[in-house]
Amino acid sequence: MKVLFYSSKSYDKDFFIDRNQEFGFTLEFLEVHLNKSTAILAKGYDAVCVFVNDTVDAPILQVLSEQSIGLLVLRCAGFNNVDLKAAAALSIKVVRVPAYSPYSVAEHTLALILTLNRKTHRAYNRIREGNFALTGLMGFDLNGKTVGLVGLGKIGLVTAKILKGFGCKVLGYDVIKNEESEAIGVELTDLETLFACSDIISLHCPLTPQTHHIINQQTIGKMKKGVMLINTSRGALIDTKAVIKGLKKEQISYLGLDVYEEEGDLFFEDLSNKVIQDDTFMRLLSFNNVLITGHQAFFTSNALKNIADITLQNIADYTNKLPLQNEVKASA
Ligand code: NAD
Repeated sequence: MKVLFYSSKSYDKDFFIDRNQEFGFTLEFLEVHLNKSTAILAKGYDAVCVFVNDTVDAPILQVLSEQSIGLLVLRCAGFNNVDLKAAAALSIKVVRVPAYSPYSVAEHTLALILTLNRKTHRAYNRIREGNFALTGLMGFDLNGKTVGLVGLGKIGLVTAKILKGFGCKVLGYDVIKNEESEAIGVELTDLETLFACSDIISLHCPLTPQTHHIINQQTIGKMKKGVMLINTSRGALIDTKAVIKGLKKEQISYLGLDVYEEEGDLFFEDLSNKVIQDDTFMRLLSFNNVLITGHQAFFTSNALKNIADITLQNIADYTNKLPLQNEVKASA
């Protein structure tokens, strides 16, 4: 079994080579994204392995199919970047890693909340410059605050448990009723109430046509003035231009992002010697109450080990013609 990895970094290579000792597949690693011009490089391989910002639309799947690729392996949970209908039509199986460490993303969510609130990033710099003044660093107690979670799946639930430990009141909205969330003490509610009553809103739902720009000018208008908004899910859940307006009007007082709708041209690369052309992103950076990390919420050693193990097991199941536990299919 020969597998070509796209968008790979040194850390992907390290974990996959280590875990592959138990599987013995032939793995080759490319740094380039999968796109129209790089899809042809899959000639001679049996499967391709991709990540969050690889485009796997119908034309690219067509090129992969022409190279006899029968398996598309996602080394991530989200699959919004794949045209599942086109894959099915070309008989290309698609597998993913549905869960590798909900703790990694939930804990990063708390890192964003705590940093925005207590301004530890600013304090770190001040102290190093010998500035011990506290003005501008005032936060608030998380204890007693209302946090609204949109999406109560694996990550949403771990986030809820952590927040309950801080003494927060947790409101939750999901399209599926989840009994575990009630057992933890999450108060299930509709989206309108969640937006209206939450001091902090954190997004943990997938990107789908229904959730695209779920945060927009209209929904921002329903939120409490001074709300904190956190997105560690997928960038396009948020209409960035509407959020910028919300920040300027001070309707949104804190914004924490690990994902950004146009992140494909930016994240995971060192662009420190380049001029960043994305004016919307640069406007976001100009606010002192905006904290952005570059899609690193998943990035713990525990998660990377699990991603490698589950990905390689998905490939092994396909090779051994076993049922694909982690297959993703287009909904009917
Ligand atoms: P999950 O499938 O366990 O949970 C998602 C939940 O969202 C489900 O309970 C689902 O019913 C709910 N949902 C679906 N549509 C909804 C809607 N319209 N409104 C409200 N809820 C809705 O997924 P998960 O493992 O908890 O991951 C959540 C998201 O986190 C993923 O879709 C992915 O985009 C993102 N993610 C980000 C990173 C990162 O590094 N930043 C890493 C992993 C996952």
